[in-house]
Amino acid sequence: MAHIALTIAGSDSGGGAGIQADLKTMSALGVYGASVITAVTAQNTRAVSAVHAIPHYVIAAQIGAVLSDLDVRAIKIGMLATREIIDCVTRAIAGFSGAIVLDPVMIAKSGDALLAPDAISALRETLLPRATLVTPNLPEAAALLAAPEAKTSEEMIDQGKALCAAGAKAVLMKGGHAESDLCEDLLISGGEVRARFSAHRQYTRNTHGTGCTLSSALAAGLAKGMRLEEAAAEAHRYVQKAIAAADTLDIGQGRGPLHH
Ligand code: PLP
Repeated sequence: MAHIALTIAGSDSGGGAGIQADLKTMSALGVYGASVITAVTAQNTRAVSAVHAIPHYVIAAQIGAVLSDLDVRAIKIGMLATREIIDCVTRAIAGFSGAIVLDPVMIAKSGDALLAPDAISALRETLLPRATLVTPNLPEAAALLAAPEAKTSEEMIDQGKALCAAGAKAVLMKGGHAESDLCEDLLISGGEVRARFSAHRQYTRNTHGTGCTLSSALAAGLAKGMRLEEAAAEAHRYVQKAIAAADTLDIGQGRGPLHH
């Protein structure tokens, strides 16, 4: 029987991030992926040139159509674009009892905004408390907490605990934005560090879609029934391999995608 995961996220026309990265990742990890599109971005490896938010009733209808028919075990939530879409998704998944991985997408690597600044508080107040796991990078954790960016492991742990206190069951603090050759991700829940994943920084410009890939790999693992620590370990391995192989792809002239 197929394991099913659902991604609720934005479309990247360049194929490197968003829904497209999510479905490639789920497929590569042996999970059937369903997809609900929240926004269409006109995008390539260099920039986002337009964003069209999908009307709320169409987003709600997509979620209703999928959840009323498919046996979805885990949902990954990515780009939500606006406060209204956050409210719409929160309502539409209210009855869902499986795992929810929330990737609090805010800004693309190209520097383009993927979430309205006035929507950050809505993300914290309505969706964070629904999350089995939230996967912020350092700037996103700081924005969610209205705090300065963490610089040390201790500060990362404190911010992870603060996000748990704000309602997330668990937090994967992603250290890739730190200025260090060693990238450390910390899995925090119940006031403790459950696991540490570290890797030497891989010097490639082709890292477009890394966060999307990690969160959908996590949702795939949870859909297969893995424990959180196991799913996080599998997702970390998957992303590291996909970054290592990214330069062999040679897609576009900007920040290219990972190799799935
Ligand atoms: N485009 C969409 C639709 C996304 O959901 C995301 C990330 O979550 C991005 C772009 C950004 O990807 P990156 O920051 O890896 O370039």
